[in-house]
Amino acid sequence: MKPGNTPLVELRNLAPSGTRLFAKLEWFNPTGSIKDRAAWYMFHNAVQTKKLHPGQTIVEATSGNTGIGLARLAQIYHHPMVICLPSAATEERRQLLRAYGAELIVVEGGPNDAIAHASGLVEAGEGHMLYQYGNRWNTYAHFFGTSQELLRDWQLETPPTHFLAAYGTGGTITGTSRGLKMIWADLRVHSVEPFVDDPISGMRSQDDPFQPPIADLSLVTDRHEVQRAVAESTVGMAMQEEGLFAGTSAGAILFAALEALSADGGTAVALLPDDGWKYLSGAPWTTA
Ligand code: PMP
Repeated sequence: MKPGNTPLVELRNLAPSGTRLFAKLEWFNPTGSIKDRAAWYMFHNAVQTKKLHPGQTIVEATSGNTGIGLARLAQIYHHPMVICLPSAATEERRQLLRAYGAELIVVEGGPNDAIAHASGLVEAGEGHMLYQYGNRWNTYAHFFGTSQELLRDWQLETPPTHFLAAYGTGGTITGTSRGLKMIWADLRVHSVEPFVDDPISGMRSQDDPFQPPIADLSLVTDRHEVQRAVAESTVGMAMQEEGLFAGTSAGAILFAALEALSADGGTAVALLPDDGWKYLSGAPWTTA
């Protein structure tokens, strides 16, 4: 099953009056997140260019979703899969990765420590890394896939004014906005980020010392920093108002969309990376 062709829905209850808000629900991908797209493109490019050999181990550093997408492909195409995971990754993520047949190495620290560990394994000849932070196919997945689907599915006569996506590896925001701006030249591109000392799974701050080489932030016109607790309460609001079961980064993106629409009006499109299953052991679903 190929990723993509996810639904674009209008959120009529959440949108501030006089504005319109649309969301592309990326949890309709095969393993439940937007990262199935990057995993598919990176994997098949590595096979076609013979960087990945039949049966070779795939090593990846990931906070979860890329690893889950890659583990599915590794299982289908018979590659052992080793995933270096930051220690904060939730139990649901670990269970899901094991369910897809991956071997997990939990690295103390954050995503940057997981990257360093995975690089060490590859240098020691332990496998091939697709390296989502530096792999152009991570952005091409969204240039050729996500952005074209949005252009195809857009039903209104006028283009949207705002596009919002999370910044993690930069694959989504770079590839999608590059494709959209070719047609919708005036589109404002909002990068949604956590604060550097208040992480949200899958997301990165522009203030983080490590900036992924594939990210082209010159496409970004607006930046939103969202506290994790605010993202979590927006997840609760999205459930109450729209019956949407969103993940935490989706909550941050929705909050930023409401900020943009309240400040400037117009029509916004938000890309929602994953749903709530992997976050059930945290807020807003579990109270301390
Ligand atoms: N949200 C979640 C839940 C993610 O797993 C990711 C992937 N890191 C992102 C947002 C950000 O996407 P990207 O890596 O394409 O910037």
